[in-house]
Amino acid sequence: MSVEVSVRGVSRVHGPTRALDEVDLDIKAGQAVAFMGPSGAGKSTLLHLVGVMDLPDQGEIHVGGRRVDDLGRRGLDRHRRAVGFVFQRFHLLPALSLLDNVLVPVLPRRVAFDRRARARELLAAVGLAGRERALPGELSGGQLQRVAIARALIAHPPLLLADEPTGNLDSVTGQEIVDLLLSVREEYGMTMLVATHNPEVAAACDRVVRMRDGRIVGDDRVTPAEGVL
Ligand code: ADP
Ligand code: ADP
Repeated sequence: MSVEVSVRGVSRVHGPTRALDEVDLDIKAGQAVAFMGPSGAGKSTLLHLVGVMDLPDQGEIHVGGRRVDDLGRRGLDRHRRAVGFVFQRFHLLPALSLLDNVLVPVLPRRVAFDRRARARELLAAVGLAGRERALPGELSGGQLQRVAIARALIAHPPLLLADEPTGNLDSVTGQEIVDLLLSVREEYGMTMLVATHNPEVAAACDRVVRMRDGRIVGDDRVTPAEGVL
C-alpha cells in the first residue's frame, strides 16, 4: 500500500530564512526518495510539511490525491494515521516498555487489527523478539532505532518519512538500519521519503533529490547496481 506525494509551489519562512523556497516535487506511489544536501537545506522542513507536523506559508501539498495543508482536525487525524515517522533521535518514551512504545500511535483509537499481536510481530521483524518488556534505557542506539521503525509501521502507513534515521548511529549500525528500512519497504511497498547525509541510504533509494537553501538543485534516478548517477 502506497500513496503519491505532490508538492506545489511550497514555501516555508522562518523570519529572514526561507527554509523552503517555492518547491515543486512529484513523488510516485511506492517510490523511495532520498533527500540530500547540507545542513539547513530544508530537508527536515519538507518532511515535516508532508507529514503535516508543520504548515506551509505558501503552496499546496497533496498526499494520495488529497490536499493535506488545509485539513481540519478530523482530516488531520486521518492523514497522520497514514504516515509513519522515524527521527534521528528516536523519540521513544523512556518509562514505557518497548511493546508500549510501539503501540503509542494506535493507543487513542480503534483499529481493525489485534494491536498487541502486531506490535509483537513488528518487534520480532526488527530483531527484538523477546524484548517486549524491556525499557528504552536498556537498549543501544541501533536497537532504539529498530523500535522506532516498528512504531512507525504499527498502523500500516502507506507513507514512511525518515529524518536522518542513521544520523546518530555508527556506520555499521547505520548500515543495519539502512538494510532494515529497505527490507521493510520491500515487504510493505510504501512510499518512502528519507532525509539523509548517508550515501548508502541514498544509493538504496530509487531517486535522490538534492537540496540547498530551500530549493531543489538536483533530482537523479538511481540504478541500484551503479549507485547514484
Ligand atoms: P535540513 O533538514 O536540511 O538540515 P531544516 O529544514 O532543518 O534543514 O532547516 C532549513 C532552514 O530553516 C535552516 O536555516 C533552519 O535553521 C531553519 N529553520 C528550521 N526550523 C526552524 C524554526 N523552527 N525556527 C527558525 N528557523 C528554522
Ligand atoms: P531529530 O533530531 O531526532 O530529527 P528533533 O528533536 O530535532 O528530532 O525534532 C525534529 C522536529 O520534529 C522538531 O521540530 C520537533 O518538534 C518534531 N518532533 C519531534 N518528535 C516529534 C513527534 N513525536 N511527533 C511530531 N513531531 C515531532
